[in-house]
Order: sequence, then structure tokens, then C-alpha cells
Amino acid sequence: MDQNKYLMGVDIGTTSTKAVLFDRKGTVISQHTVGYPLLSPTPSTAEQEPEEILRAVFACINRTMAESLISPNHLQLVSFSSAMHSVIAVDEKGKALTKSITWADNRGADYAEKIKNELNGHEVYLRTGTPIHPMSPLTKLLWMKNELKEAYDLAHKFIGIKEYVFHKLFGEFLIDHSIASATGMMNLEKLEWDEEALNIAGITSDKLSTLVPTTHVVKGLSPEMAEKLGIHKDTPFVIGASDGVLSNLGVNAIDPGVVAVTIGTSGAIRTVSDKPITDQKGRTFCYALTENHWVIGGPVNNGGMTFRWVRDQFGAAESETAKRLGLDPYEVLTEIAEKVSPGADGLLFHPYMAGERAPLWNANARGSFFGLALYHKKEHMIRAVLEGVIFNLYSVLLALQELIGIPKGVQATGGFARSALWRQMMADIFNQDVTIPESFESSCLGAVILGLYALDEIEDFSIVSDMVGSTHQHTPNSENVETYQELMSIFLSVSRSLEEDYHNIAEYQRKRLEH
Ligand code: ADP
Repeated sequence: MDQNKYLMGVDIGTTSTKAVLFDRKGTVISQHTVGYPLLSPTPSTAEQEPEEILRAVFACINRTMAESLISPNHLQLVSFSSAMHSVIAVDEKGKALTKSITWADNRGADYAEKIKNELNGHEVYLRTGTPIHPMSPLTKLLWMKNELKEAYDLAHKFIGIKEYVFHKLFGEFLIDHSIASATGMMNLEKLEWDEEALNIAGITSDKLSTLVPTTHVVKGLSPEMAEKLGIHKDTPFVIGASDGVLSNLGVNAIDPGVVAVTIGTSGAIRTVSDKPITDQKGRTFCYALTENHWVIGGPVNNGGMTFRWVRDQFGAAESETAKRLGLDPYEVLTEIAEKVSPGADGLLFHPYMAGERAPLWNANARGSFFGLALYHKKEHMIRAVLEGVIFNLYSVLLALQELIGIPKGVQATGGFARSALWRQMMADIFNQDVTIPESFESSCLGAVILGLYALDEIEDFSIVSDMVGSTHQHTPNSENVETYQELMSIFLSVSRSLEEDYHNIAEYQRKRLEH
């Protein structure tokens, strides 16, 4: 292997695009980020300007190269990660007729219900791996057909943001199997567009891009484009995959049985299987990394945002203390929670404040404290919130376990990992060893590793274990495990029994808020 070669990963995210240049050992040489807004003129709209994202991609590649001071001849590849589920209607020349409608856009909510209840949605999910939800391009197309008719009728194709960028770079409409597996319209077994899904969307396959593997390589930039990017015109571009599956690779959660959990504002839990697997109960997604690596898991809405709510609503005094001591308010709050024993003396918190995707897939779900007694104090409530977030993720893990068996370890990332208490709670509630990988820019790292595989430079992904170290390790404490197992069954039973009332209370809240 030539050590004088460098690899660039580009991650087109929802809040920013980032390019990172790595050497062959995975060390970051240079990086550049450009942010852009999520446009939300109504509460359920979440879209972006495709040209703005394109400019961000160009600027990131150019600046990352310039700052690295390496010669363009030493750039071995550029490989892409991107957010899933975006839809842009484009004309024949690739000009956008709509904004890029992101995963967070909820305008298709009624159409998701319709697909689920009237259009055989569950069977479509079982074949395509994307839960029927407003985030899914399948739902968005049915919505567009009815509510954004002009653009829908005029569209030459419906593409995602990475296809938009690739079209500008190489003039071809290409979609990798990974992004395609998150459209709700690709048959996972056949790796072809699914007839029934296309019928629901009201389109034929020529309205979508050409399907290619995630290892597909394109070369031959125009000299002007190469100059704009500051790279050689024959640099291989690897189409890559989606940010979620690449981050599994980038945090070294690629071996069978290893589970990646991330808790930032929201959260997700994912694991890799060598074949596509969907869930009879519809709780999990299945997205492609390569033909032999499928990432199954579930996204949860309610991660660290619930702790942020505690900080903002109940933590004024603690935030003041933190300020005085030069600490993070979260640290002061977790210290308080630590005074209470595991299980918060029988106080449970269901974190469903933002509705929930996995495991409930119920936008009407709402949060609750359960088991409150007069002896419960504020510290119990704080602890219960932290535990509730992990109980909920554990309920997604239980669904995954039904599909793949008991995991053999957890790689955990995200803002939550700054707290030793929260990390240990995960080990105890999951009854699993939890490792915090020393991962930087995991989606970009995943992209370049996939890139090396695409160029036949590596035979498998094992190289990642040398590239990613770890910072913390936690093992389950058997006494705590027992406590949590006992409470977990109550946690599950309460949220199940509230299903109908979630609907009723959400309905009531909507009515109140309208007045
Ligand atoms: P994002 O998903 O927006 O990238 P992060 O990964 O930075 O967010 O995670 C932010 C969340 O992490 C916060 O909402 C909070 O719940 C949690 N968090 C951040 N710092 C700490 C800390 N020191 N202790 C515990 N939790 C923390």
C-alpha cells in the first residue's frame, strides 16, 4: 500500500456538509465544514436549497484539499456519505423544480397513514426495508402527486441530494443501493425498483435514477470542474452510501453481533447483517451498505432532547451553579441524579415527548412519569429521565434481538457519552459491554473505507479496527441489571397500555394549540 496516498470522505448532512481528508491510517489531515439552513416556513415543512448544498460540497472539497497542502496527485479517491430520504423533482437538465424535501419534512403524514391502512403498506415495507412514514420518499411522492401537482407532473426525475450532486459532477443520474434502500421503493432482495411501491408513488422506474452498487466508481471530471474542486480530473469518485450505515462502519460496529448506539439530540440503534432482514411487526429499518452488509435498526426521536428539556425547565439553579464553577450544566444535573440508586426508587419516565419512531412508530405518543410517590424528589425525576431514554432504546434493541439474537457488544457514541453515569446505565439496562469508540467523523471515515474496498485496495472492512480506538469501557453490574430487568417489563407494559390514550391526549393537545 502506498502511504503517500490520501482519501477524502464527503458527508452531505442535514445541517452541514463536511469533507475530511484522511491518510491511510485513518488520521485526519484536514477538514472543512459548510453549514446551511433547514427551511421551515410551516411547522411540518423541512426543506433545503439544493444549489446551496451543491456549493457547500464544492467548497468543502476545495478547502479541504487546499488546507491539507497535499498535491492533487496524491488524492486517491473521494467517497460520499449523505443523509437519507431527500426528494427533489428535477427537469431533464437536472435543474431543481422543488427544494430538497428532507427526512424531517412531515407534510406527507396523512399519506403515510393511507399507504399503511389502504395501500398494502406493510407488505411494501417488508420488501423495501423503509418503514412507512412521512420521512420516506415513497410517502413524499404520493403526497407530491396530490399536493404539489405541478412540480410532480413536470418532473423528469425524482432524485435525492447525493444524486443531485453527482449529476452536477458527471452528468449522470445514479443512485446507490444504500440511498435507494431508504426510499421505500427498492426491493432489497432483487436490488430493483419495486413495482407495487412505484404504483403507489404513481411513477415508472424511468422517473428514478439508475441503481448502482455503493462501490460504483465514476471518473472523468471536466477540466473546469476539476479546477473548481482543486483536484485531478481523473480522481476516482466512489458513490458511497448513506450516513447511517457508513457511521456503523466508521465506529467499528461492522462485525455480526456488534451494535452501534448513538444518543445525541435524537438517537438510533443499528447492527449489521449479511442479508436483508425486515420485521414482521414493522419496528425496524433495513438499509444497504454493500450487497453483503445490511444495516438493520431503529431511529428514536427522544434521545438527549429530553435531558435538554430537564436542563431548561427544571435546571435553572443547577445551570447557575455550573456557571459559577465553570462546569457544564449537564454535569451538575447528572451528579444530582447519581445520588439516587438505579431504578430511581420505582419512578419510570417514558420519553415520548416528540412522538416516537422506533419502536412505537406513533407520532401521537407522549411523555409521562409513572409511579410517582410522595418520597420522589427532583433527583429521582432527573435520574428517571436518563433511564427512560435508555429503556426506550433497549426496547428497540429487544426488537432487533428477535431478528439477530443477543448482541456481543455495543459501540456507543453521541453527546450522552460525555456522562459516565449515562454510559454505565446503558451497560446495566442493556446487560451488555459498552465501548465508546474514539471516533471522529464516523460517516466520512466509513465512506473512505468503503472507497478503499470499492477500489479493491482492501478485501474486507477489518482495517477499521486499527483505525478506531476506544475511550471508555463499561461492563454491566449484575445487581443493577436485575433491578432494571424488573422495571423494564413495567416500562413496556405501561407504554403498551397507553396506546389509545396517546392518541386521545395528542388530539386534545392539537385542539388546544389551535386555539
Ligand atoms: P446532536 O445530535 O445535535 O449532534 P450531540 O451528540 O452533541 O447532539 O448531543 C447532545 C445531547 O447530549 C444533549 O441534548 C444532552 O442530552 C447530551 N449531553 C451533552 N453533554 C452532556 C454531558 N456532559 N452529560 C450528559 N449528557 C450530555
